[in-house]
Amino acid sequence: LTGALVADLREVVGDANVLTAVEDTAGYTCDWTGRFQGLTPAVARPASTAEVAGVVAACRRHGVPLVPQGGNTGLVGGGVPLAGEVVLSLSRLAGVESVDPAARRLVALAGTPLAAVEAAAAAHGLAYGVDLGARGSATIGGTVATNAGGLRFVRHGGTREQLAGIEAVLGNGSTVAHLGAPAKDNTGYDLAALLCGSEGTLGVVTRACLRLVPRHDERAVSLLGFATPEAALAAAAALSASMLPLDALEMIWGPTMALLARELPPGPPFDAAAYLLVECADLVDPLPALSAAVDSLAGVVGAAVATDGRRRAELWRYRDEIAPAIARVGVPVKMDVSVPLPAQRELAASVSAVVTGVAPGAGLYLFGHVGDGNLHVNVVLPASAERDVAHRVEDAVYRVTADLGGSISAEHGIGTAKLPWLGLVRSDAELAAFRAIKSALDPDSICNPHCLLPPPFTR
Ligand SMILES: Cc1cc2nc3c(=O)[nH]c(=O)nc-3n(C[C@H](O)[C@H](O)[C@H](O)COP(=O)(O)OP(=O)(O)OC[C@H]3O[C@@H](n4cnc5c(N)ncnc54)[C@H](O)[C@@H]3O)c2cc1C
Repeated sequence: LTGALVADLREVVGDANVLTAVEDTAGYTCDWTGRFQGLTPAVARPASTAEVAGVVAACRRHGVPLVPQGGNTGLVGGGVPLAGEVVLSLSRLAGVESVDPAARRLVALAGTPLAAVEAAAAAHGLAYGVDLGARGSATIGGTVATNAGGLRFVRHGGTREQLAGIEAVLGNGSTVAHLGAPAKDNTGYDLAALLCGSEGTLGVVTRACLRLVPRHDERAVSLLGFATPEAALAAAAALSASMLPLDALEMIWGPTMALLARELPPGPPFDAAAYLLVECADLVDPLPALSAAVDSLAGVVGAAVATDGRRRAELWRYRDEIAPAIARVGVPVKMDVSVPLPAQRELAASVSAVVTGVAPGAGLYLFGHVGDGNLHVNVVLPASAERDVAHRVEDAVYRVTADLGGSISAEHGIGTAKLPWLGLVRSDAELAAFRAIKSALDPDSICNPHCLLPPPFTR
């Protein structure tokens, strides 16, 4: 069976673009964190929408599911073949095809890295509203499939808000394309919005039409230190409620910053129990407004400010390098949860309490897009931890989050990692609707069948 499937895949994408040797497929079968490791009979690398359709058709004919994969920076085990699926890599389907500065839109192929989209927009005096630390590898297809949030959500919203059109090969084999519609277009179901956040379970995204935003080149970044995490959260709430032109509002808890200072020095210019990284951007210098706002905050124990590009990048390093610093000390259990803004203080306290209770001795690293109520909880377990501790930590964190009216996935998606807990935040009726959509668009369950949708019996 596998031999016949591989022969068909070679027919579609050419011999050189079907990888089967374990040493060639290794980079596609393990996720960025090293927590999720699978196996695949083949990695197929199509270079056109027609070839993607050919790969989907071959998998359907042979009854072998596939996992779409972009930059493989996803953090919930949704992009790797954990059950022996074929990997459909979008790496060769890359490039920005067109930029329309007047309409403020751009069309990119699914495998295009986020950074390339940002560069193409910048060349026209525009910007793309989604940015994240993995910008060099994460792809447009992957960010659409996960509805990625990121560092600019506080200003521009997530990927769904930027998506003006889509082309995709659905699991049922058909290709749908709605890329060039006018900005005002009320002609039925919004397939782009539906595929956004579907994590490869309905089809393979091949192209996206993305909205662009004006560039705000006048920028000021401030790193603020606080005496307590509670003071930092109160300051974040005050900054959110202000009229500042906020482009990012991030929080880093003290132990997380201490880890960064140790693993990837230098550390911050001052010690604090918690830090905020605030970026303002405008058409006029936002520094006076930012400075005035900072002066009115309580509990500030240190502040650094930068307006020139090099110094701004130095301050951003404290946020961008957290994930690599954590990866140096172990394979983390990564959770990204969100709650309504007023509940953030209780969430952080409850998470600390339950993690310490379930896994004493674990490293707990908190940081997050605090302007959006989004807390990243990273737990590095001691080597001696029993096998089920990771599951118990996740269970405890997701339950306190759900009890506070929050979401168990602010931005990374459900993947395979969070399947057991989707029922905490989605009703039976909603999950039934999810399954009806899945069976309509992917009737043979060819596209990422083990991701996002829990089988009914696990609820
Ligand atoms: C250092 C670091 C920082 C990060 N910061 C953020 C952040 O701030 N905000 C955030 O939201 N995420 C963040 N992430 C997570 C990750 O970058 C995003 O989820 C990103 O959207 C994944 O893109 P990718 O191309 O790597 O997708 P992959 O990891 O390859 O895939 C992710 C999911 O999308 C599906 N998929 C991929 N391509 C397609 C396609 N063309 N069609 C259909 N399905 C597809 C896969 O099957 C899988 O389910 C971060 C990750 C890292 C490593």
